[in-house]
Amino acid sequence: MPAASPPSSAKDIDSLVVGAGISGLAHARIRHDKGQRVHILDTQEEPGGSVRSFRREGFLVEEGPNSMLVKSQEVWDWLGKMGLGSRIVEANPAANRRYLVKDGRLVAMPSSPWSAVKTPLYSPAAKLRLLAEPFLPRTKLADESVTSFVSRRMGPEFLEYGISALVSGIFAGDPDRLSLTHAFPKVWNLEQTYGSLIGGALRLRRHRRKAGIKPFKSRLISFRDGLAELTAALAQPLLQDGLLSLSSRLGTLRRDPDGHWHVRVLRPDGERVLRCREVVVTIPLHQYGEIPFLRDLDLAELTRHPYPPLSTLVLGFPRTAIQHPLDGFGALFPRREQRFSLGTIFSSTLFPLRAPQDQVSLMTFIGGVRQPDNARMETPQLVERVLADLSPLLGLRGDPSFLHHSFWPQAIPQYNVGHGEVLAQLDQLETRHPGLRLRGNFRGGPGLHDCLAGALAEPSPTAA
Ligand SMILES: Cc1cc2nc3c(=O)[nH]c(=O)nc-3n(C[C@H](O)[C@H](O)[C@H](O)COP(=O)(O)OP(=O)(O)OC[C@H]3O[C@@H](n4cnc5c(N)ncnc54)[C@H](O)[C@@H]3O)c2cc1C
Repeated sequence: MPAASPPSSAKDIDSLVVGAGISGLAHARIRHDKGQRVHILDTQEEPGGSVRSFRREGFLVEEGPNSMLVKSQEVWDWLGKMGLGSRIVEANPAANRRYLVKDGRLVAMPSSPWSAVKTPLYSPAAKLRLLAEPFLPRTKLADESVTSFVSRRMGPEFLEYGISALVSGIFAGDPDRLSLTHAFPKVWNLEQTYGSLIGGALRLRRHRRKAGIKPFKSRLISFRDGLAELTAALAQPLLQDGLLSLSSRLGTLRRDPDGHWHVRVLRPDGERVLRCREVVVTIPLHQYGEIPFLRDLDLAELTRHPYPPLSTLVLGFPRTAIQHPLDGFGALFPRREQRFSLGTIFSSTLFPLRAPQDQVSLMTFIGGVRQPDNARMETPQLVERVLADLSPLLGLRGDPSFLHHSFWPQAIPQYNVGHGEVLAQLDQLETRHPGLRLRGNFRGGPGLHDCLAGALAEPSPTAA
């Protein structure tokens, strides 16, 4: 078949990126900085997706993510290359302390082998059982829930007062459904490779030392004006060069017989017609029905992927209204404790300048897979219930001096048991439709670091 000639108005570019959250911005910037011709679009007025920060009344509010754990030298160096080095704020070292609620009291989670021996979180029998972990057989299962894995290797107490709460802190998920294999692949690989978590971690450390490999020490960071500074910095040159279309959507997306993608971007000021070899879709799976071309494929399973609702509540208080020293990252509320909220971050301890002098800022998470209805409550009810959780734990008195409530109807994709089938379906779609790349926080981890690392790890497509 003869190659269809492009309509005269179609502009040839290398890549179109759909969605300007951190994933899309990273994919677009990496390509742009390599000299490729990109265009990126988003339906929202502002870039950043889930990353939303602003200042009000002297408080720095993060509506979504509040910190980023940089886990690799590559991502750290890239942030520097993006000109963000001097804007990075590292977390207060006090953030290494994390509290858990047990029997209605805040208890610090163990952070060293000695504190693990002494902690009142686990019974002597549970601690002794952990010594047997290196001698337990490895599983023959290909995929396993967090509950099953942790109960099997560490025992149920570590699940209830530890892992289960951490899981709700990261995924707002349910450990009975979350896949350890896909949500925590490094832990899974320790068992698969070395047959033990404890033994595996020790052997890995020994191997690295012998090979002279100095592992990157993870750094918990934000930016002086919050995490939106990161997405704004990634977006800036794209906006400046007219390559980022905001408040825009795709009118047409089709693959022509010559292998090029024909694209019509509907912008508030008119339309842009583009022709490219590569289309990188980085929007949430539940929004795939909004994309022409994807809409016509049978993707019902993908669009029904679980993304639980979540509310975040930022509350400010005079420092004197809280007895607790707030000397840590925050507190997680295990499911056994039957609290209304999932946990609270001591935001103004974590990073400086998040609250005016003499005030503190707390960010509480509500809802998730296990309590979706809690997330949907109206603000006054939500505040009342959160205060009922926090007041006895923190010795908190009086009303908040500051309040901001954000509701996320579909917050974080779940990496449940069977997630491998989702990934296989995405791979098949890409094979069937060359040039189509389906990326985002449902692949490789939901954290901001994971989204950046995923984009940086991609082989660069060749220019058309
Ligand atoms: C409440 C909350 C707290 C979190 N806390 C943390 C944390 O502390 N640390 C951390 O590392 N991670 C955290 N995360 C996870 C992290 O923020 C996200 O996984 C990450 O920001 C997702 O980025 P993304 O670009 O893949 O997707 P998104 O941020 O969802 O971006 C997708 C973009 O696609 C756009 N879009 C949708 N439909 C269309 C369409 N039809 N056409 C064009 N564009 C479209 C959207 O407008 C959006 O801008 C949190 C997430 C939430 C929700």
